[in-house]
Amino acid sequence: MRADYASILADIATRIKQRDFPNARNADYIPALAAVPSDRFALVIRHVSGAEFAIGDADIAFSIQSVSKVFALVLALRSCGDDLWQAVRREPSGSAFNSLILLEQEEGIPRNPFINAGAIRVCDMISSRFANPDRSVAEFLGRLCTNPEIRTDNDVYLSEDQHGNRNRAIAYLMKSFGKLDNPVESVVRAYFKQCAIAMTARELARATLFLANQGVGIDGTQILSASEARRINALMLTCGMYDGVGDFAFSVGIPAKSGVGGAIIGVIPGEFSVCVWSPRLDGSGNSAPGIAALEMLTDAIGRSVF
Ligand code: GLN
Repeated sequence: MRADYASILADIATRIKQRDFPNARNADYIPALAAVPSDRFALVIRHVSGAEFAIGDADIAFSIQSVSKVFALVLALRSCGDDLWQAVRREPSGSAFNSLILLEQEEGIPRNPFINAGAIRVCDMISSRFANPDRSVAEFLGRLCTNPEIRTDNDVYLSEDQHGNRNRAIAYLMKSFGKLDNPVESVVRAYFKQCAIAMTARELARATLFLANQGVGIDGTQILSASEARRINALMLTCGMYDGVGDFAFSVGIPAKSGVGGAIIGVIPGEFSVCVWSPRLDGSGNSAPGIAALEMLTDAIGRSVF
């Protein structure tokens, strides 16, 4: 029997509005993200049957930031296949998303594709294979959610570019170990443009559906094989929430990926994809209201992947 998603979502939105998240704040190291109204909240479920349920600011576009890393990885995997795993490992990092420590210790090979170092290396691989690497992830997302208008928000891109020294340091460190193929500046430009893609929660839930539906997207196209989709979900489960991944598995229990714009995408395979968006972040850089909402969701439906 299918849950009554419409009333579950309405109840979650009411409870989130009433709750205080005293220590959570918008990301401010990218100044354009600090300017987004903090009380925005959207929650969208796309069921494998095609049904869609939405509450809140579901049609307001925001910066998808590290949620893009999932789609960049899928795009790279489709073109490089398993060779990709020579360049990026598949282990949780246990440190911040923008940390350099393990990268130094592990000779420029990133722990996983969802920390910044790994995503920059994936971007490097895309740069070697696609004619227009600054736009290829946005075009791919446009196909996945069937909105060809998906674009980079130029103000967010410029804001991150002007404050991007840490990501440049990560890229130069990888380059110094001989682990980056393309020039650092062109790779970080493509990376910042990918992070600055603007989408709505509804579009992101639609774009994520293939991960809940054995690799099949909302228009019936096979995006990845069913086994590849399972593997992406395994990576999200173990590496998708940075250093909050253990707590998230404990309290929510679904494969998910967050971004510092405040979005989290997730899936219950065979059932639905979900996107929640609310800009205030906890200490690990994950949306605090977003995590609370997803916990309420898996509690209400009485299921997680466990
Ligand atoms: N563009 C951001 C950065 O590189 C992405 C980080 C994130 O969303 N966790 O710092």
